[in-house]
Amino acid sequence: MQSAADRREALKAVYERARGCEKCPQLAATRTTVVFGSGNADADLMFVGEAPGANEDKQGLPFVGQAGKLLERLLGEIGLDRKEVWISNVRKCPAPGNRDPHPNEIGACQDYLWRQVELIEPRVLCTLGNFSTKLLRGDPTGITRLHGQAELRVIGPRAVRLYPLYHPAAALYTPSMLETLRADFARIPDLLAQPAPDQPEPVPEVAPEPMPGPEVEPEREQLGLF
Ligand code: URA
Repeated sequence: MQSAADRREALKAVYERARGCEKCPQLAATRTTVVFGSGNADADLMFVGEAPGANEDKQGLPFVGQAGKLLERLLGEIGLDRKEVWISNVRKCPAPGNRDPHPNEIGACQDYLWRQVELIEPRVLCTLGNFSTKLLRGDPTGITRLHGQAELRVIGPRAVRLYPLYHPAAALYTPSMLETLRADFARIPDLLAQPAPDQPEPVPEVAPEPMPGPEVEPEREQLGLF
């Protein structure tokens, strides 16, 4: 078992690798920043959205536009601040025109997400919208059928309570969806109060493969965020 400090250091190393990522050359060429995620590296509660947009690209942080403001408001209504949770996305790079993630981009980016789940060790993982719900459940069932229903799922090596929610961007302009999202949010404190899920037996470690990092200068301000 790794300490929270060790897991945070390991997360920083994943971040250092991710921010020079060129797995999707077109996205690497057009992005300003890789929006890795932000918040508490030891959070019990994690959110996974779709992909950063132009505002997120500028600031290097997820959910800082209108959808982010709504997410912060809903968190506030259950007594939480975004600094206490971890917020991330399926695809870490913005795309021109804010288009949806392509399947090959989701495939290329997913290891960063699995590593975040492994190292942050959330008890409750909220997927926001269809992309993260389908990816993390490994199933094409849509958010309209699944929202508000928590289930135990194993994501990589971690068992979590997976809790699908409507995407805040979708709720921004649809009052009935906003009320549903708010009602689903109201159940999060109960989920957090439930016993931590039993974890699967750890898989014996194989020698870690060396992962060549990109030759980039460290960017300390972003690291200070988690
Ligand atoms: N901002 C993000 O970071 N992700 C989304 O899915 C939407 C807005």
